[in-house]
Amino acid sequence: SAKAAGSNQWAFFKQQMTERAAVRLRTEASLHDALKHDEFRLHFQPKFDIKTGKILACEALIRWQKDGRLISPLSFIPVAEETGIIIPIGRWVIEEACKTLREWKVRYNFVLPIAVNVASQQFADASLVPDIKQLALRYQIDPELLEIEITETSLMNDIELAISKLQQLKSAGFGIAVDDFGTGYSSLSYLRHLPITTMKIDRCFVTDLPQESAIASTILMLGKQLNLSVVAEGIENQEQLDWLSSNDCQIGQGFYFSKPLPMDEFIEKYIKPNTASISNI
Ligand code: C2E
Ligand code: MG
Ligand code: MG
Ligand code: MG
Repeated sequence: SAKAAGSNQWAFFKQQMTERAAVRLRTEASLHDALKHDEFRLHFQPKFDIKTGKILACEALIRWQKDGRLISPLSFIPVAEETGIIIPIGRWVIEEACKTLREWKVRYNFVLPIAVNVASQQFADASLVPDIKQLALRYQIDPELLEIEITETSLMNDIELAISKLQQLKSAGFGIAVDDFGTGYSSLSYLRHLPITTMKIDRCFVTDLPQESAIASTILMLGKQLNLSVVAEGIENQEQLDWLSSNDCQIGQGFYFSKPLPMDEFIEKYIKPNTASISNI
């Protein structure tokens, strides 16, 4: 009967929900363990000056080293956000980035800005701004070398609060980039009130270049008008790069230049060679 079918469906639904909740709990517990056992790593993806090919900065991207495998942030950041454990994970990311900046300076006499991603819930947390300031102070980091990447969606959750937090970060000297720009619901009228320094064109608009270029053009134009630097994410081929270059996009990031690399590979490839050229002068 229909009633029996309905009740079967309900039982099935309930079982699914219970399983999902159980998975979430298990994942949360193993994320706690991962923090405790130091299983997270940062990988680094360079950002380049499109005109000169010179490395300008890099983005730190978290990985979970679990039983010899690397787990992508796409599969644990959403759960970390749902359960709140993103707060200590996010703090670990910021501290690790500060340590790294310090290490590059002290060991290689090399400075390269590092961008870290801040999740929505982490941005909403009252301890974020004081934590960042305190960590920068503790590791003696020039705030200009630490850039905070926040998605457009996180900023639009509570626009007034976002403006006041960004203001605090910006006046302390930290860089602020709006990540995945174009995919959220930015109110353009608010954009000019946001104390940001950079917009990152989301990969999905770069993928379509050069055939479909309306959104990328618009973001570049907006950047110019608002006096912000613009980074193109997810550049995968020469055609995309050519279009970006001839449309005055200053900064590029993507597999065409380099995938995100583990710390030691990044140092070999991008830090040591530059250190040599500095010490030769
Ligand atoms: P995102 O911040 O927009 O980072 C860019 C993502 O695109 C990275 O994926 C990067 O590896 C990938 N990517 C870069 N260039 C290319 C390209 O040319 N082609 C393609 N197909 N992909 C490219 P990843 O490392 O898997 O990170 C995915 C997302 O996870 C990030 O997107 C960010 O939202 C989040 N995430 C990563 N690390 C952290 C973190 O430490 N904290 C937080 N809260 N989120 C993070
Ligand atoms: Mg990012
Ligand atoms: Mg992005
Ligand atoms: Mg993204």
